[in-house]
Amino acid sequence: MDGHTADLAENPLKGCGPQLGKGRAANTPLRVQIFDYVRASGSAARADITRALDISAGSATTLTADLITAGLLREVTGMTREAGRGRPPVALQVVPDAAHVIGIKLSYNRHTAVLTDFAGNMLADTALPTSQAVHSMPQLLQEIDALIQQILTESGKALSDIRAVGIGMPGIIEFDTGTIAWSALLSARDQNLRTAFATRFDMPVYIDNDANMLTLAELWFGEGRQKSDFAVVTIENGVGMGLVLNNRLYRGARGMGLELGHTKVQLDGALCRCGQRGCLEAYLADYALAREAATALGPATATPQSNQMLLETLFQNAKAGNRAARTIFERAGRYLSVGLSNVVQLFDPELIILSGERMQYDYLYASEVLTEMQELTLSEGRAPCEVAIHAWGDLVWARGATALALSALTDTLIGGEGETT
Ligand SMILES: [Zn+2]
Repeated sequence: MDGHTADLAENPLKGCGPQLGKGRAANTPLRVQIFDYVRASGSAARADITRALDISAGSATTLTADLITAGLLREVTGMTREAGRGRPPVALQVVPDAAHVIGIKLSYNRHTAVLTDFAGNMLADTALPTSQAVHSMPQLLQEIDALIQQILTESGKALSDIRAVGIGMPGIIEFDTGTIAWSALLSARDQNLRTAFATRFDMPVYIDNDANMLTLAELWFGEGRQKSDFAVVTIENGVGMGLVLNNRLYRGARGMGLELGHTKVQLDGALCRCGQRGCLEAYLADYALAREAATALGPATATPQSNQMLLETLFQNAKAGNRAARTIFERAGRYLSVGLSNVVQLFDPELIILSGERMQYDYLYASEVLTEMQELTLSEGRAPCEVAIHAWGDLVWARGATALALSALTDTLIGGEGETT
């Protein structure tokens, strides 16, 4: 079984958001369910809504009328006339200009932002290099401020047009409180970014870890839209994971879940940067490969290089037939097989999406890796879990942050208060 590649831009589905249909969480207000359904469909007739959500025509009429009055949905005339009927069918669409949100990805080298309308259309994107790797909270806030000003300028929008901001960043993040328990971007632990944000901006902000942002991007704009249970495994500076269970992002109880990179694959094994031993990341992340690269490449690496440059050289050498270089990638691939098979064994997802910068090293998703993953998994003759490879850039992560903001804003505007996707 081979993985396959895809592109968000190739996604033929209209609209955005999970295509949940009937059976979304029963505690979601019906008005929110209707709005979500219309946004996920691109446009939908009342009869479609009635059928998909299994509600009465009367409820659909009343609730959609409320949403139209509120300026959130609008009627559009369909392109085709139904045979034998005098007037063209009327469909409902999200009013794109009802609200705008900004999604931000904060990372080590540069920050990225995307501005979308309420229908999820991307109107602008921008990026700013970071001034330093590790920030104090005021420094980070200053960079967020500059990024927001830049995207407002480029999109021609005013700050008052923006109703919510979503932020994704690496680290251990308490979504409910906005507290960054730990992040390599921040010099101190337990910093509350939401509170700090409120000192500069009069709008809600939602903060989550970047693997969750990428998972939301798949759930809202990508291949995950039609999957109720799927996992995203990211291989960048570290190994991250996001999980959708029953159409919703799973966050765990304390923001500590799904740290796949720190699951143990070797008792008393290699030292991980978290301080513990035997973590998957200690065999797979760039610093783990770079540690061995210096030895494999010999005198050629006498001058100090960044991990990224070292890995690039290692990869070129492996491709050129350097056996020692090649075994480093192959060994990393085998550890990835172990990690993925554990994910399948624990959660039984329909699909695992592999994503991240490391995916350019094709040894990590070679057929041997996927075969070994299957061999390590108890499947009792059932069809193997599908694996897809998506080599996304920062823009997609930032789009995931817009999904976070859109989802929360939808609940606030339509459902009073409630859960976010
Ligand atoms: Zn670790």
